[in-house]
Amino acid sequence: MYINVRLLKGFSGILTYKIPADAPPIAIGSIVTVPIRTQIKPAVVLAIHHSAPENQSFVIKELLTLETIPYADYYQPFLTKLSSYYQIDSVHFTKRITQFISQKELPSDATAEPSASCTTEIITLTDEQQCVVTFMNPQIEKQQYTPVLLHGVTGSGKTEVYKKLILQAHQQGKTTILLLPEVTLAVNFELLLKSQLINISIFGFHSATSVKDKKKLWVSLCAGTPVLIIGVHLPIFLPISNLGLIIIDEEHEIGFQEKKHPKINSKEAALIRAQLANIPIILGSATPSISSLYNVKMKGWHFFQLKKRFSGSFPTIITVPLNDKKKRKNFWISKKLELAIIDRLSKSEQTIIFLNRRGYSFFVQCKQCSFIFECTHCSVSLTLHEHNMLHCHYCGQTTTQPTTCPSCKTDQSFLKKGIGTQQVVEILQKLFPTARIGRADMDSTVNKKQWQETIRSMHDGSLDILVGTQTITKGYHFPKVTLVGILWADLNLHFPIFNAAETTLQQLIQVAGRAGRNSAESLVVIQTMLDHPIFAYVDEINYLAFYHSHIEQRITIGYPPYNRLVEIELKHNDEQLLDKEADLLASLLNDQSKNSLVLGPAKPPIHKIKNSYSRKIYLKDSEMTPLITLFSAIDKKKFKSSLFFTPNPLNL
Ligand SMILES: [Zn+2]
Ligand SMILES: [Zn+2]
Repeated sequence: MYINVRLLKGFSGILTYKIPADAPPIAIGSIVTVPIRTQIKPAVVLAIHHSAPENQSFVIKELLTLETIPYADYYQPFLTKLSSYYQIDSVHFTKRITQFISQKELPSDATAEPSASCTTEIITLTDEQQCVVTFMNPQIEKQQYTPVLLHGVTGSGKTEVYKKLILQAHQQGKTTILLLPEVTLAVNFELLLKSQLINISIFGFHSATSVKDKKKLWVSLCAGTPVLIIGVHLPIFLPISNLGLIIIDEEHEIGFQEKKHPKINSKEAALIRAQLANIPIILGSATPSISSLYNVKMKGWHFFQLKKRFSGSFPTIITVPLNDKKKRKNFWISKKLELAIIDRLSKSEQTIIFLNRRGYSFFVQCKQCSFIFECTHCSVSLTLHEHNMLHCHYCGQTTTQPTTCPSCKTDQSFLKKGIGTQQVVEILQKLFPTARIGRADMDSTVNKKQWQETIRSMHDGSLDILVGTQTITKGYHFPKVTLVGILWADLNLHFPIFNAAETTLQQLIQVAGRAGRNSAESLVVIQTMLDHPIFAYVDEINYLAFYHSHIEQRITIGYPPYNRLVEIELKHNDEQLLDKEADLLASLLNDQSKNSLVLGPAKPPIHKIKNSYSRKIYLKDSEMTPLITLFSAIDKKKFKSSLFFTPNPLNL
């Protein structure tokens, strides 16, 4: 017997080896070690043959060892389906988990069981929570594909529901995967659940997990022990023989889609896996995604709501226009917000100041009348490029930016640059010299120690005001926060992407939800340049009304979830060649398309990174399959540029 293999690292061609007569059974997808030149390397089995390949001019060596990997009959079909969906080689997935296999020795405490001397704390669930658990228990027992969307308002205790379900799966000898959209959240959950579910072996499995701990998990998986695995992207690729439940928290978050190519969305991958493994999957959020809510209607997903807060009450929400001409000490802090902060400082209560900022602001806005340039075809804001050119990121439409505002005719009064968190801290320090102010944004969270210190200071009350970006919107529970100020609430509404209104509202609700966790009275001040219908829905009780109004727009314009959207990115160092190839690809796609719409090529808002240029083409159809077929039929060898295929792109 012979096998074709691919090395997990290095040479990417197909190699042939002989299976020794005394070897245990080998299946496609097995991991083996093979001799190559003077080295021993891990490889994945692609095919098994009974006879030796013909015209073989050299001696075929025997494989050395066969790694034990946990077996589930749906696992290989799952990887095959993923590789087709994302148009990448299935070896990609095996490569990502290889750092824990081929271990020479096991960690000595690898099989340590959790201590059984104490028991897990039992909390009495509310009726709403119990209702979800009662529905899910038989689904976990029967092992049936059951997608469940859990809409629970901020502070409603979704975690208590997850804990019960994890316990239930564990009692039946099943492993649970819990996915969160960010590593910091995964770390927090890991700490929390390790202190509360003490009878269960809990493993983090993400970029912050040590290799030693990853190997420990691998040993448990090989032994078939029921465990809880917490992560962001990686857990969904693991072979697991006894997977019984998948939980996705903050399911609306675009962070589930990886930022680098291939941009795999672990939520999509989890749904595919749950379906093939025939197990229940529960997706929870205070602000469920439009697409999941649409699936409740169209695909019969089960839907549950937690409408009450566990403790505390909902905040009062007020909207303040930023472009009024009333005198104030600083443009970015309205009189109402200033007075509210003074009040909190005098009562020793805490304030969160939120700046809704994703990297850059790309759009151009009139300071006088708040007019924004938009694409007439795509309903997204135009982005500013060099030589004062405005581009549509989807269809490629290009115009020169006029010097006068088309709406109010004011000359040269365009706002082109945003404001950063550092600048906000400086403004606040000037206005409130005695206030203790902390900052939390992407830059400061990269420094983990500093980030944990900031969170601790917020908890123990040694900070009065925390200034932050989206990092502070999720998962954190600060009991003394009674005021949330949103500096420029409509900023991301003009982000040049179809889901801008949805993601902006979700962020606003999440950050507003930090107020009043433990108090009867709290306030959210929303400052905006331009009024917008979504501000009526920041009171999260109205969230479903937003869905009903917004889904109509998506259907009218033909965006997801009504239509399927695919992004194809081309990259090359030579911009001229790139433009030529982007045009060629678009025309090939157009020629071969049956009913699919081909948009572009267009220059993305960030079209040059580290000397590599980028162009994008978008494909639209009512189904995903024709789009995958269309792209897979393209002869990629014709292109010198790198091509990347992303189904359902959620970010730029
Ligand atoms: Zn104007
Ligand atoms: Zn357009």
